[in-house]
Amino acid sequence: MTAQPFTATILGSPRIGPNRELKRAVEKYWAGATGRDELESVAAKLRRETWEALAAAGLDSIPVNTFSYYDQVLDTAVMVGALPARFGKVADGLDRYFAAARGNDEIAPLEMTKWFDTNYHYIVPEIGPDTRFELDPSKVLGELEEARAQGIPARPVIIGPVTFLALSKAVDGAGAPLDRLAELTVAYGELLQILAERGAEWVQIDEPVLATDIIGNAAELAERTYASLGRLTDRPAILVATYFGELTDALPALARTPVEAIGVDLVSGDGRSAVSAVPELTDKLLVAGVVDGRNVWRTDLEAALETLTTLQGSVRRLAVSTSCSTLHVPYTLDAEPDMDAALRSWLAFGFEKVTEVVALARGLKNGSQAIAGEIVASNAAVVSRRSDPRLNNESVRARISSLAASGTGRGPAGRRRAAQQARLELPALPTTTIGSYPQTSAIRVARADLRTGKIDAAEYERRMKGEIADVIRLQEELGLDVLVHGEPERNDMVQYFAEQLEGFFATQNGWVQSYGSRCVRPPILYGDVSRPEPMTVAWITHAQSLTDKPVKGMLTGPVTILAWSFVRDDQPLAETAEQVALAIRDETVDLESAGIAIIQVDEPALRELLPLRSKDKEAYLRWAVDAFRLATSGVADSTQIHTHLCYSEFGEVIGAIADLDADVTSIEAARSHMEVLGDLNAAGFTNSVGPGVYDIHSPRVPAVSEMAAALREALNAVPAERLWVNPDCGLKTRRTEEVVASLRNLVAAAKEVRAKEVQGTAD
Ligand code: GLN
Ligand code: ZN
Repeated sequence: MTAQPFTATILGSPRIGPNRELKRAVEKYWAGATGRDELESVAAKLRRETWEALAAAGLDSIPVNTFSYYDQVLDTAVMVGALPARFGKVADGLDRYFAAARGNDEIAPLEMTKWFDTNYHYIVPEIGPDTRFELDPSKVLGELEEARAQGIPARPVIIGPVTFLALSKAVDGAGAPLDRLAELTVAYGELLQILAERGAEWVQIDEPVLATDIIGNAAELAERTYASLGRLTDRPAILVATYFGELTDALPALARTPVEAIGVDLVSGDGRSAVSAVPELTDKLLVAGVVDGRNVWRTDLEAALETLTTLQGSVRRLAVSTSCSTLHVPYTLDAEPDMDAALRSWLAFGFEKVTEVVALARGLKNGSQAIAGEIVASNAAVVSRRSDPRLNNESVRARISSLAASGTGRGPAGRRRAAQQARLELPALPTTTIGSYPQTSAIRVARADLRTGKIDAAEYERRMKGEIADVIRLQEELGLDVLVHGEPERNDMVQYFAEQLEGFFATQNGWVQSYGSRCVRPPILYGDVSRPEPMTVAWITHAQSLTDKPVKGMLTGPVTILAWSFVRDDQPLAETAEQVALAIRDETVDLESAGIAIIQVDEPALRELLPLRSKDKEAYLRWAVDAFRLATSGVADSTQIHTHLCYSEFGEVIGAIADLDADVTSIEAARSHMEVLGDLNAAGFTNSVGPGVYDIHSPRVPAVSEMAAALREALNAVPAERLWVNPDCGLKTRRTEEVVASLRNLVAAAKEVRAKEVQGTAD
């Protein structure tokens, strides 16, 4: 443990490849088009080039074992021997790993869920009564060896035992996974010893859960675990890395243990004063996360250097770092040729963040004059960003103030219901879908052809209108009551709007990993948001012109647009949400004027943006609800507002869902067996609801009897006049055959229940 302290590092880096090389290689391997050797050589090349670039940029400690074929939590499950027994059937290690991530013909995969409040998804480990922790350090040792052979100052990164168990799921009647912490800590102890033998000077153990309120006794568990690991004599120096929030009582708790270094996120919350208040830190290396690892804004170097300088007295030594892994941001700004110079000067992607870390470390060591040039450029960016007219649209701001003054409520729900029923004349238990229909290969080809210039905008429009006509015809034939246009023109439910709104920049190559081989390009919301022109009206009115049944307008809500974008950090999220809401409101008003009677505003991300600290939750839910109401209150009582939410465990957001006050809320319930309806009732919700009766996450076609039974169950909680019948999410990922068969059964189930259970509505 005579490790040299380091001065400049990052907590992790992207791994999909600057041109998504890993995505392509993995997908080819899955498809059987290439063999193992080719996949492994692509992976090894990506690792080598990543380390080389980080070392060349000047980092003196470099994270390794941050590469992954799929997910780092799954890697950890493999490392500690915690894959469920059902995967034991797959003899080959790599194929077993992919089976756990994605399932195969016989074995169901592990679940997947959001990594804290990011858009990255991890694989949820299962801890059952038969789980035995048994160390398999081959991956981490392999990467360590590779990096050392390359002369890299390598610091292996592993997910810590507290976080690993806190994010795991108990199965088969096992107790809480965290009950196994002591046992798992023993396996980590063995790992540390092996790492030391193999020459690792440092190890980084990630414990982001300590910066959240996900578990109540985080500080206590951290102290116990790291006191015990710290006590080991043959081990590398330990950096416990925390991120995504401020460490409260876990900071002094960790400081009391013998670990050598603590990583703190100084971007979220007021970490600076928290650090100064902990006397035990005077014998630690503080790895100061002053460069935001998960958003794309350029660091204000002068301010960051000041933070670092004030911290210097409170700790033994200081290293400069990103606040978290840069896994969450794109590789480099160099891949964006079409960005204007001003916007470019305000941003830092993954590689640019490394440069910032290195500059700050130099400034800290040699004084700010040593990085005078960098500071001048950074200050110029700060000034340019502050004074750019695109960040201050007076008319948007004035409209929001005046709407705030006049209030954004709608008429009472009962009056709305009566006005809508008179206008729409829907049967009891109306049937509908959530918006998208299968994205066929014809649709993808048309989009690609438009991009490459093979077809012009007029031809693209003609093809999309043809797709819409097909979807309308299908829905009429199936006998659905409220139709949709099918969303063929949308590449993505956020990017589609971002491309049309002022204040957003849609990147060309800003890919980040969402899960496994799936990558997304979150748009950058940099300025005041406004809507120059209607965004959806032409498509929806075209669809409506083809049918006498009502067609639902389809929009994405303000919270979801923020959740799936990189959002400006120079004003509170609540203010940005209001601006997005105003643009959506303008669209609802135009749809209404064009004769559209039903408008859906999707908010699938309402739950995922919920803050990780309890104290911040109430304020978030308040602005999220306010933004939705601002977006949806511009229309008359006779226009019906729907919303769609995508998850079945509402818990803390159930009250907010009721407060959204949408006329109709469709919600995932197919897998949670309608429990959600009781929860909504308990929250005082009395508007209409469409609990999903068809689980679109599975290729299975649900039988009529099954969906009829679900509807009968729903009728125990909700009266017929408030109940809608729909799938639990959009259909874009499903195949047309499955969708047609399932919707046919869904309509039949609704008719059966209407005829037998609902009096006076035989049809
Ligand atoms: N309207 C969208 C669709 O049907 C909703 C998607 C979602 O909930 N994520 O695809
Ligand atoms: Zn959904």
